[in-house]
Amino acid sequence: MQGLMMDIPLTITSIMRHAERVHGAQEIVSVTRDNPRHRYTYADSFARTRQLANAMSDWDLASGDRIATLAWNDYRHFEAYYASACSGYVCHTINPRLFPEQIVYIINHAEDQYVFLDPDFWPLIEKVAPECTGVKGWVVMTTPEHMPETSLENVHCYETLMEGQSDQFDWPDIDENSACALCYTSGTTGNPKGVLYSHRSTVLHTYATLMPDSMNISSGDVILPIVPMFHVNAWGNPYACPVAGAKMVMPGNKMGDGPTLAALINEEGVTMSAGVPTVWLNLLAHLRSSGERVETLQRVVVGGSACPLSVMEEFDAYGVDTRHAWGMTEMSPLGTSNSSGARRHQFDSETFTNMRLNVGQPIYGVEVKITDDDNNELPWDGVAFGALKVRGPWICSSYFKLDGSSAHEEEGWFETGDVATIDPRGNVAITDRTKDVIKSGGEWISSIEVENCATGHPGVAEAAVIGRIHPKWGERPLLIVVKNESADVTSDELKSFLDGKIAKWWIPDDVQYIDEMPHTATGKIQKTKLRDIFEDYQFPA
Ligand code: AMP
Repeated sequence: MQGLMMDIPLTITSIMRHAERVHGAQEIVSVTRDNPRHRYTYADSFARTRQLANAMSDWDLASGDRIATLAWNDYRHFEAYYASACSGYVCHTINPRLFPEQIVYIINHAEDQYVFLDPDFWPLIEKVAPECTGVKGWVVMTTPEHMPETSLENVHCYETLMEGQSDQFDWPDIDENSACALCYTSGTTGNPKGVLYSHRSTVLHTYATLMPDSMNISSGDVILPIVPMFHVNAWGNPYACPVAGAKMVMPGNKMGDGPTLAALINEEGVTMSAGVPTVWLNLLAHLRSSGERVETLQRVVVGGSACPLSVMEEFDAYGVDTRHAWGMTEMSPLGTSNSSGARRHQFDSETFTNMRLNVGQPIYGVEVKITDDDNNELPWDGVAFGALKVRGPWICSSYFKLDGSSAHEEEGWFETGDVATIDPRGNVAITDRTKDVIKSGGEWISSIEVENCATGHPGVAEAAVIGRIHPKWGERPLLIVVKNESADVTSDELKSFLDGKIAKWWIPDDVQYIDEMPHTATGKIQKTKLRDIFEDYQFPA
């Protein structure tokens, strides 16, 4: 027997309609190149979204066509998200930090019809535009007075495009399973792969991000998404905030700028923010040197890479709870979230320190399992570690225009490429990327755990551990460090600092220093590059 409930499609359009009706007066504040503090309301935003949809309807587009964005977090990017998806097109967010040849590859692979871009990226696009033969037009997201000079054809000004357009638009009915957004993974090897989100998966993921043990977003919140809208849709914040009615504060190109972030937090009353570990280093360094505080900030969601304990403890001193989350582009991205900070009074400090380093429990909707090399499921005992696999309604079932990739098992589980343990309560601890695992004398060493401990040393700004060939053990860990400015830390000091914090045989055999850590386009330490740099390295005899 079928249930007797209405079958209303779960669409981005329904998010927009709800936000405009119920939370129309709530604010969106943005930093842009043409205005350091633009502010308007959700009602203003969605009226302009309809103007943009009218402008786009003059273009020769079919439902499902891809419209790309190459932009920071700001109100125009937000309008482009909704105007594309709700018109039935697919909003393809491009990471501007990719190499130009990767950008050309994904624009052509996605068959982008139009590209919206921030003026900051015009020099990049002007060079590669001739190689993007399928693109019918480039829209620079600015006012006429800030338009770049160019001899290229088909270059439009965003505000000119909007001028004179009606703010009434008849949104089409959309099948909830149709595509709404596209994001390419920033893989370190091979070409980036496209993850194609649907309206339904996005709405379900939105509900999941709102839950209390997840990001816990409500109408009283002021949210600062530092994670870019080109990195897995800013972890869903541009959908969750309108659903909850939270005020949004968008940092534009100032996302890595400590003083601007502190000013936005204090002047706009930010309660929650989200970003990868490296952005917090900038904010915390600024707070340390200026003596400023961030009184309104209650919690930060940190993911994308392992969050160092030192970052969490520094946030503790400002009364800010760190929520350690894990996920992937292929997972929309949220998979697990660690909300133990809200219950810290229940634990002694050692137990709490150990707990907060894991990435928390799976969010309802995401199933997880770990398997050994023969695909046997491993126990949830907090000790056994194996390949982490996931499935759920907001996890990709195959890559865009790349059927039959090896990432999916027959039963539909997706192989994350991470290695993890899971404890009896479902707490997941990520020990490594499969490709970064270090095997010494046949036993695995968790590079993430060693890095985390090393970063706790006051002289260490960033640390990475890679395996290098060793005549006796096959492989041994090499610690690579970027020192804090003016720090004078020796290798012996670092090794004795690690002694007692990790298993003795996990202590790296040597430490090497570099001036700058190589990062991927999404801020992760680029271990392939480190392995290249230290290709000929040999441990001291
Ligand atoms: P991306 O698709 O670029 O967001 O990258 C996803 C990958 O980032 C995951 O498969 C993990 O390897 C890594 N990652 C994400 N969050 C965490 C975390 N909290 N701790 C450790 N690794 C993480």
